[in-house]
Amino acid sequence: MAKKVVVASLEGAVKTDEGLKYKGVIMEPIVEKCEGCERVVPFEEEKFCPSYAQPARKWAHGVCNFATHVRAAVDKEGKVKVNPLKASKRAARGR
Ligand code: SF4
Repeated sequence: MAKKVVVASLEGAVKTDEGLKYKGVIMEPIVEKCEGCERVVPFEEEKFCPSYAQPARKWAHGVCNFATHVRAAVDKEGKVKVNPLKASKRAARGR
């Protein structure tokens, strides 16, 4: 079994009044859809994404293109479909 690769860390990040500051950027905590993504990094009580400071915004446009756990596909009607990469059981249950 392949070892889980640490994609990035939040080394040097500091908690400020505005939020978690990392490399001069305020990081927002991850959103529910990020759960399962290998890029999620826990920091103190919260989880953050070193790849994207505002995960909620990333998902507002469909599927996060940095996600390691899901992949977006556009179906014939032009709708974005989210394909879980590992959860084949869930996919089988779908519509
Ligand atoms: S890469 Fe995307 S899905 Fe993964 S934690 Fe960051 S924002 Fe969330």
